[in-house]
Amino acid sequence: RREQARELAGRPVHTAAGERVELAANASTPAEARAAVDAGAEAIGLLRTEFLFSERADLPSEDEQVDRLTAVVDALAGRPVTVRTLDAGGDKPMPALDLDPVRNGFLGVRGLRLSLARPELFHTQLRAILRVATGRRLRVMFPMVTTADEVARAREAVDAARDSLAREGVPYGEPEAVGIMVEVPAAAVAPEDLLDGLDFVSVGSNDLAAYTMAADRTVTEVAPLAQPDHPAIARLIGWLCEAARARGVWVGVCGEMAGEPEYAAGLVDLGVRELSMAPGAIADVKQRLLTVPAD
Ligand code: PEP
Ligand code: MG
Repeated sequence: RREQARELAGRPVHTAAGERVELAANASTPAEARAAVDAGAEAIGLLRTEFLFSERADLPSEDEQVDRLTAVVDALAGRPVTVRTLDAGGDKPMPALDLDPVRNGFLGVRGLRLSLARPELFHTQLRAILRVATGRRLRVMFPMVTTADEVARAREAVDAARDSLAREGVPYGEPEAVGIMVEVPAAAVAPEDLLDGLDFVSVGSNDLAAYTMAADRTVTEVAPLAQPDHPAIARLIGWLCEAARARGVWVGVCGEMAGEPEYAAGLVDLGVRELSMAPGAIADVKQRLLTVPAD
Protein backbone atom coordinates (compact mmCIF):
# COMPACT_ATOMS: atom_id res chain seq x y z
CA ARG A 1 0.00 0.00 0.00
CA ARG A 2 2.73 2.41 1.01
CA GLU A 3 4.55 1.66 -2.23
CA GLN A 4 1.33 2.11 -4.18
CA ALA A 5 0.74 5.41 -2.36
CA ARG A 6 4.26 6.60 -3.22
CA GLU A 7 3.78 5.65 -6.84
CA LEU A 8 0.47 7.54 -6.97
CA ALA A 9 1.73 10.57 -5.04
CA GLY A 10 2.03 13.64 -7.20
CA ARG A 11 -0.75 12.42 -9.49
CA PRO A 12 -3.67 14.57 -8.44
CA VAL A 13 -7.18 13.43 -9.28
CA HIS A 14 -9.30 15.53 -11.64
CA THR A 15 -12.75 15.00 -13.10
CA ALA A 16 -13.09 14.75 -16.87
CA ALA A 17 -14.13 18.42 -16.77
CA GLY A 18 -10.84 19.27 -15.06
CA GLU A 19 -12.09 19.90 -11.53
CA ARG A 20 -9.79 18.84 -8.69
CA VAL A 21 -10.87 16.08 -6.33
CA GLU A 22 -9.07 16.17 -2.98
CA LEU A 23 -8.24 12.81 -1.43
CA ALA A 24 -8.08 13.27 2.31
CA ALA A 25 -7.89 11.10 5.40
CA ASN A 26 -10.01 10.77 8.51
CA ALA A 27 -8.17 10.67 11.82
CA SER A 28 -9.43 9.86 15.30
CA THR A 29 -6.01 9.88 16.95
CA PRO A 30 -2.69 11.73 16.45
CA ALA A 31 -1.18 8.42 15.25
CA GLU A 32 -3.78 8.15 12.49
CA ALA A 33 -3.06 11.73 11.45
CA ARG A 34 0.62 10.86 11.07
CA ALA A 35 -0.31 7.73 9.08
CA ALA A 36 -2.32 9.93 6.71
CA VAL A 37 0.81 11.57 5.33
CA ASP A 38 2.47 8.22 4.55
CA ALA A 39 -0.74 7.08 2.87
CA GLY A 40 -0.64 10.03 0.48
CA ALA A 41 -3.44 12.14 1.99
CA GLU A 42 -3.62 15.70 0.69
CA ALA A 43 -5.42 16.84 3.83
CA ILE A 44 -7.20 15.63 6.93
CA GLY A 45 -10.84 15.91 5.92
CA LEU A 46 -12.11 14.89 9.34
CA LEU A 47 -10.18 15.14 12.59
CA ARG A 48 -12.43 13.64 15.26
CA THR A 49 -11.52 15.69 18.34
CA GLU A 50 -13.19 13.20 20.67
CA PHE A 51 -9.68 11.82 21.31
CA LEU A 52 -9.06 14.92 23.46
CA PHE A 53 -11.93 13.93 25.76
CA SER A 54 -11.84 10.15 25.82
CA GLU A 55 -10.38 7.91 28.52
CA ARG A 56 -10.35 10.60 31.18
CA ALA A 57 -12.71 11.68 33.93
CA ASP A 58 -12.03 15.42 33.65
CA LEU A 59 -12.24 17.90 30.80
CA PRO A 60 -9.10 18.87 28.87
CA SER A 61 -7.93 22.43 29.49
CA GLU A 62 -7.61 24.96 26.66
CA ASP A 63 -3.80 24.73 26.78
CA GLU A 64 -3.92 20.96 26.66
CA GLN A 65 -6.19 21.05 23.61
CA VAL A 66 -3.87 23.57 21.95
CA ASP A 67 -0.84 21.33 22.53
CA ARG A 68 -2.45 18.13 21.26
CA LEU A 69 -4.11 19.74 18.26
CA THR A 70 -0.90 21.56 17.34
CA ALA A 71 0.96 18.25 17.29
CA VAL A 72 -1.60 16.82 14.87
CA VAL A 73 -1.66 19.82 12.54
CA ASP A 74 2.14 20.08 12.49
CA ALA A 75 2.38 16.37 11.60
CA LEU A 76 0.51 17.20 8.38
CA ALA A 77 3.39 19.46 7.32
CA GLY A 78 1.42 22.25 5.67
CA ARG A 79 -1.53 20.21 4.46
CA PRO A 80 -4.88 21.50 5.71
CA VAL A 81 -6.52 19.84 8.71
CA THR A 82 -10.30 19.90 9.15
CA VAL A 83 -10.89 20.07 12.87
CA ARG A 84 -14.37 18.90 13.77
CA THR A 85 -15.64 20.35 17.03
CA LEU A 86 -16.61 17.85 19.70
CA ASP A 87 -19.10 15.24 18.52
CA ALA A 88 -20.13 13.78 21.87
CA GLY A 89 -23.31 11.75 22.33
CA GLY A 90 -24.83 9.09 20.10
CA ASP A 91 -22.42 6.15 20.14
CA LYS A 92 -19.57 8.27 21.52
CA PRO A 93 -19.57 8.27 25.32
CA MET A 94 -17.40 10.81 27.19
CA PRO A 95 -16.80 10.04 30.87
CA ALA A 96 -16.38 13.72 31.83
CA LEU A 97 -19.71 14.78 30.32
CA ASP A 98 -22.06 12.45 32.17
CA LEU A 99 -24.14 11.67 29.11
CA ASP A 100 -27.49 9.92 29.22
CA PRO A 101 -28.01 7.12 26.67
CA VAL A 102 -31.41 8.47 25.60
CA ARG A 103 -31.23 12.26 26.14
CA ASN A 104 -27.79 12.29 24.50
CA GLY A 105 -28.47 9.37 22.17
CA PHE A 106 -28.73 9.38 18.38
CA LEU A 107 -31.92 11.49 18.44
CA GLY A 108 -30.95 13.59 21.42
CA VAL A 109 -28.50 16.27 22.48
CA ARG A 110 -25.37 15.26 20.58
CA GLY A 111 -22.81 16.84 18.25
CA LEU A 112 -23.26 20.59 17.78
CA ARG A 113 -26.47 20.44 19.83
CA LEU A 114 -24.41 19.44 22.85
CA SER A 115 -21.76 22.11 22.22
CA LEU A 116 -24.48 24.77 22.05
CA ALA A 117 -26.03 23.42 25.25
CA ARG A 118 -22.66 23.60 27.03
CA PRO A 119 -21.33 27.04 26.00
CA GLU A 120 -18.32 26.99 28.32
CA LEU A 121 -17.17 23.68 26.86
CA PHE A 122 -17.62 24.99 23.30
CA HIS A 123 -15.92 28.31 24.10
CA THR A 124 -12.83 26.54 25.44
CA GLN A 125 -12.55 24.30 22.40
CA LEU A 126 -13.10 27.16 19.93
CA ARG A 127 -10.45 29.28 21.64
CA ALA A 128 -8.04 26.33 21.39
CA ILE A 129 -8.86 25.84 17.69
CA LEU A 130 -8.32 29.54 16.85
CA ARG A 131 -5.03 29.55 18.74
CA VAL A 132 -3.83 26.51 16.78
CA ALA A 133 -4.85 28.27 13.54
CA THR A 134 -2.07 30.82 14.10
CA GLY A 135 0.12 30.37 11.03
CA ARG A 136 -1.35 26.93 10.28
CA ARG A 137 -3.78 25.62 7.67
CA LEU A 138 -6.87 24.70 9.60
CA ARG A 139 -10.50 24.26 8.61
CA VAL A 140 -13.22 24.12 11.22
CA MET A 141 -16.33 21.96 10.92
CA PHE A 142 -19.43 21.49 13.09
CA PRO A 143 -21.03 18.02 13.45
CA MET A 144 -24.72 16.97 13.46
CA VAL A 145 -26.18 20.23 12.19
CA THR A 146 -29.95 20.38 11.70
CA THR A 147 -30.98 24.04 11.30
CA ALA A 148 -29.61 27.36 10.07
CA ASP A 149 -30.16 28.76 13.54
CA GLU A 150 -27.64 26.27 14.92
CA VAL A 151 -25.09 27.32 12.31
CA ALA A 152 -25.65 30.99 13.19
CA ARG A 153 -25.18 30.24 16.89
CA ALA A 154 -22.02 28.25 16.18
CA ARG A 155 -20.61 31.15 14.18
CA GLU A 156 -21.49 33.56 16.99
CA ALA A 157 -19.59 31.28 19.36
CA VAL A 158 -16.55 31.46 17.06
CA ASP A 159 -16.84 35.26 17.05
CA ALA A 160 -17.04 35.31 20.84
CA ALA A 161 -13.96 33.07 21.13
CA ARG A 162 -12.05 35.34 18.72
CA ASP A 163 -13.11 38.47 20.64
CA SER A 164 -12.01 37.04 23.96
CA LEU A 165 -8.59 36.08 22.58
CA ALA A 166 -8.18 39.54 21.01
CA ARG A 167 -9.17 41.23 24.28
CA GLU A 168 -6.56 39.22 26.17
CA GLY A 169 -3.90 39.77 23.51
CA VAL A 170 -3.55 36.02 22.91
CA PRO A 171 -2.33 35.21 19.37
CA TYR A 172 -4.87 33.46 17.14
CA GLY A 173 -5.42 32.78 13.46
CA GLU A 174 -8.36 32.53 11.09
CA PRO A 175 -9.47 29.10 9.85
CA GLU A 176 -9.03 28.94 6.07
CA ALA A 177 -12.54 27.49 5.76
CA VAL A 178 -15.66 27.01 7.87
CA GLY A 179 -18.09 24.19 7.18
CA ILE A 180 -20.64 21.80 8.58
CA MET A 181 -21.28 18.09 8.44
CA VAL A 182 -24.44 16.97 6.73
CA GLU A 183 -25.61 13.94 8.66
CA VAL A 184 -29.27 14.77 9.24
CA PRO A 185 -31.58 14.05 6.29
CA ALA A 186 -33.34 17.42 6.68
CA ALA A 187 -30.03 19.19 6.11
CA ALA A 188 -29.52 17.31 2.84
CA VAL A 189 -33.10 17.73 1.57
CA ALA A 190 -33.33 21.47 2.31
CA PRO A 191 -29.78 22.78 2.66
CA GLU A 192 -30.35 26.25 1.18
CA ASP A 193 -30.46 28.25 4.43
CA LEU A 194 -27.66 26.20 5.97
CA LEU A 195 -25.24 26.90 3.14
CA ASP A 196 -25.29 30.68 3.52
CA GLY A 197 -21.80 31.94 4.24
CA LEU A 198 -20.20 28.49 4.48
CA ASP A 199 -17.10 27.43 2.54
CA PHE A 200 -17.86 23.73 2.49
CA VAL A 201 -20.08 20.91 3.72
CA SER A 202 -18.94 17.37 4.39
CA VAL A 203 -21.41 14.51 4.31
CA GLY A 204 -21.19 12.18 7.29
CA SER A 205 -22.62 9.28 5.34
CA ASN A 206 -22.51 6.88 8.31
CA ASP A 207 -24.98 8.91 10.31
CA LEU A 208 -26.84 10.15 7.23
CA ALA A 209 -27.55 6.56 6.16
CA ALA A 210 -28.56 5.54 9.68
CA TYR A 211 -31.00 8.43 10.06
CA THR A 212 -32.37 8.08 6.53
CA MET A 213 -32.96 4.35 6.92
CA ALA A 214 -34.06 4.69 10.57
CA ALA A 215 -31.53 1.99 11.46
CA ASP A 216 -29.12 2.22 14.39
CA ARG A 217 -25.75 1.07 13.09
CA THR A 218 -24.84 -0.26 16.54
CA VAL A 219 -27.79 -2.70 16.54
CA THR A 220 -26.64 -5.87 14.75
CA GLU A 221 -30.04 -6.85 13.37
CA VAL A 222 -30.63 -3.55 11.56
CA ALA A 223 -27.04 -2.42 10.89
CA PRO A 224 -27.13 -3.78 7.29
CA LEU A 225 -30.04 -1.40 6.59
CA ALA A 226 -27.75 1.51 7.45
CA GLN A 227 -25.42 0.71 4.54
CA PRO A 228 -25.28 3.59 2.07
CA ASP A 229 -26.30 1.46 -0.94
CA HIS A 230 -29.96 2.49 -0.84
CA PRO A 231 -30.80 4.92 -3.68
CA ALA A 232 -32.15 7.40 -1.12
CA ILE A 233 -28.59 8.14 -0.01
CA ALA A 234 -27.27 8.96 -3.48
CA ARG A 235 -30.35 11.07 -4.14
CA LEU A 236 -29.83 13.09 -0.95
CA ILE A 237 -26.15 13.67 -1.73
CA GLY A 238 -27.05 14.63 -5.30
CA TRP A 239 -29.55 17.24 -4.10
CA LEU A 240 -27.04 18.60 -1.65
CA CYS A 241 -24.36 18.88 -4.35
CA GLU A 242 -26.72 20.75 -6.65
CA ALA A 243 -27.74 23.28 -4.00
CA ALA A 244 -24.15 23.71 -2.83
CA ARG A 245 -22.74 24.20 -6.32
CA ALA A 246 -25.30 26.93 -7.02
CA ARG A 247 -23.92 28.79 -4.00
CA GLY A 248 -20.22 28.16 -4.57
CA VAL A 249 -19.92 25.84 -1.57
CA TRP A 250 -17.82 22.70 -2.10
CA VAL A 251 -18.98 19.28 -0.92
CA GLY A 252 -16.94 16.53 0.70
CA VAL A 253 -17.85 13.11 2.04
CA CYS A 254 -16.14 11.82 5.16
CA GLY A 255 -18.25 8.76 5.97
CA GLU A 256 -17.03 5.24 5.26
CA MET A 257 -18.50 5.16 1.75
CA ALA A 258 -15.84 7.67 0.64
CA GLY A 259 -13.24 4.91 1.14
CA GLU A 260 -14.97 2.34 -1.11
CA PRO A 261 -13.66 2.74 -4.68
CA GLU A 262 -17.03 2.12 -6.38
CA TYR A 263 -18.95 4.48 -4.12
CA ALA A 264 -16.15 7.04 -4.40
CA ALA A 265 -16.44 7.15 -8.18
CA GLY A 266 -20.22 7.58 -7.92
CA LEU A 267 -19.80 10.41 -5.39
CA VAL A 268 -17.43 12.28 -7.70
CA ASP A 269 -20.03 11.95 -10.47
CA LEU A 270 -22.61 13.50 -8.14
CA GLY A 271 -20.34 16.53 -7.63
CA VAL A 272 -18.36 15.63 -4.51
CA ARG A 273 -14.88 17.25 -4.57
CA GLU A 274 -13.30 15.94 -1.37
CA LEU A 275 -13.26 12.32 -0.27
CA SER A 276 -12.01 11.73 3.25
CA MET A 277 -11.39 8.15 4.36
CA ALA A 278 -9.31 5.83 6.49
CA PRO A 279 -5.66 6.34 5.46
CA GLY A 280 -5.42 2.71 4.30
CA ALA A 281 -8.17 3.24 1.72
CA ILE A 282 -6.59 6.16 -0.15
CA ALA A 283 -4.39 4.20 -2.56
CA ASP A 284 -7.21 2.01 -3.91
CA VAL A 285 -9.65 4.90 -4.22
CA LYS A 286 -7.04 7.00 -6.00
CA GLN A 287 -6.23 4.15 -8.37
CA ARG A 288 -9.92 3.80 -9.21
CA LEU A 289 -10.42 7.53 -9.80
CA LEU A 290 -7.30 7.81 -11.94
CA THR A 291 -8.29 4.80 -14.03
CA VAL A 292 -11.84 5.79 -14.92
CA PRO A 293 -12.26 9.50 -15.47
CA ALA A 294 -15.36 10.85 -13.74
CA ASP A 295 -18.13 12.97 -15.28
C1 PEP B 1 -20.34 10.01 9.78
O1 PEP B 1 -21.32 10.04 10.52
O2 PEP B 1 -20.35 9.54 8.62
C2 PEP B 1 -19.05 10.54 10.25
C3 PEP B 1 -18.01 10.65 9.44
O3 PEP B 1 -18.98 10.90 11.55
P1 PEP B 1 -18.74 9.82 12.71
O4 PEP B 1 -18.49 8.49 12.05
O5 PEP B 1 -17.59 10.36 13.49
O6 PEP B 1 -20.04 9.90 13.44
MG1 MG C 1 -21.31 11.22 12.35
